[in-house]
Amino acid sequence: MTDLLASERLTGLAQGAYIVAGVLFILALAGLSKHETAKRGNVFGMTGMALALVATVVLALRQTSLPGFSSSVPLTLVLIGAPMAVGALIGIWKARTVEMTGMPELIAMLHSFVGLAAVLVGYNSFLGSGDATGAEASGMETIHAVEVFLGVFIGAVTLTGSAVAYLKLSAKVKSAPLALPGRHWLNLAILLACAGLLVWFVLDDSGAALVPVAVMTVLALVLGFHLVAAIGGGDMPVVVSMLNSYSGWAAAAAGFMLSNDLLIITGSLVGSSGAILSYIMCKAMNRSFVSVIAGGFGSDGAVAGEARDYGEHREVQANEVAQLLANAKSVVITPGYGMAVAQAQYPVAEMTRKLRDKGVDVRFGIHPVAGRLPGHMNVLLAEAKVPYGIVLEMDEINDDFDDTDVVLVIGANDTVNPAALEEPGSPIAGMPVLEVWNAKEVIVFKRSMATGYAGVQNPLFFKDNTRMLFGDAKERVEDIVKAV
Ligand code: NDP
Repeated sequence: MTDLLASERLTGLAQGAYIVAGVLFILALAGLSKHETAKRGNVFGMTGMALALVATVVLALRQTSLPGFSSSVPLTLVLIGAPMAVGALIGIWKARTVEMTGMPELIAMLHSFVGLAAVLVGYNSFLGSGDATGAEASGMETIHAVEVFLGVFIGAVTLTGSAVAYLKLSAKVKSAPLALPGRHWLNLAILLACAGLLVWFVLDDSGAALVPVAVMTVLALVLGFHLVAAIGGGDMPVVVSMLNSYSGWAAAAAGFMLSNDLLIITGSLVGSSGAILSYIMCKAMNRSFVSVIAGGFGSDGAVAGEARDYGEHREVQANEVAQLLANAKSVVITPGYGMAVAQAQYPVAEMTRKLRDKGVDVRFGIHPVAGRLPGHMNVLLAEAKVPYGIVLEMDEINDDFDDTDVVLVIGANDTVNPAALEEPGSPIAGMPVLEVWNAKEVIVFKRSMATGYAGVQNPLFFKDNTRMLFGDAKERVEDIVKAV
């Protein structure tokens, strides 16, 4: 076995496998861009990852088998295999138990692990290259020193930023923005201080290079925390995709430090696709891309104001809604996070089928940030086999509400809130929303008059053409299905 591992050919094969895995990752991303090819995209991604894992283990074993290496092949196998087995078990358990509504916080937590890994790889790379006082660090090639410094910096920002995102998304802390006075100056000061520390780190020949890197780590941890803490509830989706991008760059930086081509390719793919997604979401949310990176945007620190008196709301019962739907020519359904919580997509699909059989024109209007992760509603509706052709984006449907008889707002709140357009001081001001109130009748399915994720009151509920259908969305839709 050792002879086989020692052969040059094995390294060549493993490197070849890395290239194939890189191509499979690109095909996976291409596949995931369309509903029809998403499953195939996932298969490409999983195959690429399996190939990459095998190649990485083989390369590690080969290195161990080289003369002068302190570890033995069996010991390396155990050292790699044991954590992989534990990680795989935790991964399988999490994948089986996580609710769809819990995905965003899980993703945020995983991003923080990528950040932590980049910090650890950076320190390992730095400390392993000389003694801990950095006596040899000054002798490190400048490029490698910059790689280490940037890797630790991006990793630390990603670590605390993602941890705060996790806490906000899982409602463990309030999603309201932390608006410190002069917060942009604070961020700028940290960035400038880190740039200065980079120069010290690269030029240091006194053996004290650990000092700038350690100080920078603390500052980067503070920066990550502050960047995300300053973002208010409704704007979190953009931040999550931005952190996704940061985690990619952190992985790419780790790839440079470890001279691992596949990690560089994969990290860059995640980094750039996350940045593109953030840009698309910024456009959809009418937010500036630069201010997302700077942290604390959109509301300029505004928090949900005092509860305003919008008047009385009116209620309706399921059988009346069924009657209304049966007499309607056109119906638009705008689902939101509540549909995911209630798992109401199956009765919603059943109701859609029944109404379409009766000749009613039923379509869906999907807001880009409805739910808790990009594409959340599309995934749920696809799962329930709602035809893709009747599921439209916000921009495609917003002009059609004037000609719509009935809109069913199923578990959506912030994404149909007119305050975004009508109240300049609102934390969601400027965010485009589904203009459902232009329809003849609006029925809102929710359990109470509580606010949505952004914590903002919704004047839609008090409009003359709106009626509230209270209760769990799944139960209420099932009542309608029975009555139609
Ligand atoms: P919201 O979070 O604004 O509102 C959801 C509504 O669903 C609540 O008002 C709640 O009211 C209702 N609800 C909850 N459970 C049920 C149930 N079982 N049956 C019926 N209703 C229920 O949802 P939207 O989808 O409109 O907006 C998404 C928000 O999340 C936006 O602010 C967005 O910025 C944010 N966000 C989005 C992310 C993304 O990537 N898409 C990521 C992070 C945040 P009640 O309690 O009264 O029932």
